[in-house]
Amino acid sequence: MKQFDTHIHSEFSPDGRMSMEDAVKRSINLGIKGLAFTDHFDVDAPGDNNRFNFDPHKQQSRIDELRLRFPSFEIIKGIELGLQAGSLDKANTLAGSHNFDTIIASIHFVDGEDPYHGDFYSRNSPKEAYKKYILNMYECVKNFRNFDILGHFDYIVRYSPYKEKSLSMKEYGDELDSVLRVLASGGKALEINTNTYRERGGRTPVLDKSVLIRFRELGGEFISMGSDAHDLERIGENFEPFTAFVKHCGFGYITHFKGRKNICIKIE
Ligand SMILES: [Zn+2]
Ligand SMILES: [Zn+2]
Repeated sequence: MKQFDTHIHSEFSPDGRMSMEDAVKRSINLGIKGLAFTDHFDVDAPGDNNRFNFDPHKQQSRIDELRLRFPSFEIIKGIELGLQAGSLDKANTLAGSHNFDTIIASIHFVDGEDPYHGDFYSRNSPKEAYKKYILNMYECVKNFRNFDILGHFDYIVRYSPYKEKSLSMKEYGDELDSVLRVLASGGKALEINTNTYRERGGRTPVLDKSVLIRFRELGGEFISMGSDAHDLERIGENFEPFTAFVKHCGFGYITHFKGRKNICIKIE
């Protein structure tokens, strides 16, 4: 697998269950070309989620050490920046305050609420919940440009209890179109997050290929691929079938970012 895993959580994430060193060794064994450590930083997270942040200086110093020890393996300094519409100025300050190689923008909250906890899903129908999520995402990407990759655009389906487990163009085309247009015109990458399409509670979310096809139609060029692994076992998980899927949707490359610049690797 001559690919980069562009979305990984190390011991610097509060829910990370692997050391950076072990992640690098495991990736070398798997034949992965490089890793981006994208630890969590959710700005102004609701509830007790304020623990979802890390010290970029410490994280980057550790990466510098590992770069010296593993010179032929590429290690990328990243962050998964959790965005909310009301905190974009703070997010922008953080994004500019360290020399990140790559910034993933992710939406984890809806209208100031964490859907993972509480009763968000039971209070909303699937359509309401999913539309609210996409609208929150649109507000963020429309007004915040300091990122490279939109993380897990369909995160809201990952933990939902509904039978409907896809953000499909058929149901949410109008809302998704707005987001895809902003990404395409801004030269941003749409992430395929392989952690989303795993079975949870007897249901497995489905990635709608029409979303990728529409992104391509709108001029979108860049697709990144991340496992969102928090443990060693999931690094690079399912990259081969999803890479074939991306190719089938009309993309010739998988993209990662270094020094905030896109690097495209041709799909063989
Ligand atoms: Zn995330
Ligand atoms: Zn993540």
